[in-house]
Amino acid sequence: MQIKDFHYLKKLLEAPGPSGFEQEVQKVFRSFASDFCDDVRTDVHGNVIAYKKGSLDKKIMLTAHIDEIGFMVRHIDDHGCVRFDSIGGVDPALLPGLAVRVYGNGGALDGIIGKKPIHLMDRDERNKAVKLEDLWIDIGAGSAGEARKMVSVGDYGTFMPSLTELPAGLIASKSLDDRIGVFIVSSVLRELAGVRELPHIYVVSSVQEEVGLRGAVTSAYTIKPDIGIAVDVTHASDYPSIDKNKHGDIKLGEGCVFHVGANINSRVLSILKNTAVQGGISYQLEASPRNTGTEANAVQLSRGGVATGLVSVPLRYMHSPNEIVSLKDAERAIKVIAGFCKTIDKHTDLIP
Ligand SMILES: [Zn+2]
Repeated sequence: MQIKDFHYLKKLLEAPGPSGFEQEVQKVFRSFASDFCDDVRTDVHGNVIAYKKGSLDKKIMLTAHIDEIGFMVRHIDDHGCVRFDSIGGVDPALLPGLAVRVYGNGGALDGIIGKKPIHLMDRDERNKAVKLEDLWIDIGAGSAGEARKMVSVGDYGTFMPSLTELPAGLIASKSLDDRIGVFIVSSVLRELAGVRELPHIYVVSSVQEEVGLRGAVTSAYTIKPDIGIAVDVTHASDYPSIDKNKHGDIKLGEGCVFHVGANINSRVLSILKNTAVQGGISYQLEASPRNTGTEANAVQLSRGGVATGLVSVPLRYMHSPNEIVSLKDAERAIKVIAGFCKTIDKHTDLIP
């Protein structure tokens, strides 16, 4: 399936950027966004904010987080193996045997996550869940000294970049959480190029979401928006083992997701829904009775409060090396958010 700027999406997905180390991938966002806005700046926290000047006296902030989960070098052991900690929520069960990429002293190097083979485990060991401390990254060093020449404590790593295209417009890659969101907010900027009557638009490629929504806190404070739309991924429930009674019915390819609940301004939600209906854009609803755990939460609670919405893309296998999304859902999110921005004017009432 073709999507506009697929090449840009691929670059976003391949670049490394675990929380706290986002500047390499921010370069990709900056260079794309600068073609479609009046100003791009990077704040002291590492957020990149692309600003498109408007003619209407309202500010809309569109935010998506550019950081991904990853690894950090904790210690180099006597064998020259790299012992590591996780950056963000990493499931140790997914790791043994994976190829990963470590960004070390001399640049990127590849490694393999090692673990004791099943043959050499006693019965107790076999029945235990894998823990991070049972694993290491083998970078092919023959000794601790050799390994230290290649990597240092504090260096970071990510899942191996790879983009797999599946039928029906599905793609699989690392870091779709939330590079697909960054791709969507960037593409909204592109869609709005040349539109004259608009509020001020601030598109944020934010940092450190996976370690506590940190970039959204600081960027929302700076921007002081009237409206904030966070774009992130949400769990699809269309695969084995997920209970729809507990998690709702969210399918890949059936539309972008609008969240409903305390974290969401009801006026913003109804404008999103109307925009979708008028544009013939399919959407799904997700019940979010509490704090959504996304940047929508940080933005909503900024200063005296911000009218906030959350648009998500359904995703399978969150925080795995091969998360899956549908490009169709991403396209719908772009259309609906661009339409939303065009709908807002100075009369738009945001009081619930
Ligand atoms: Zn996310």
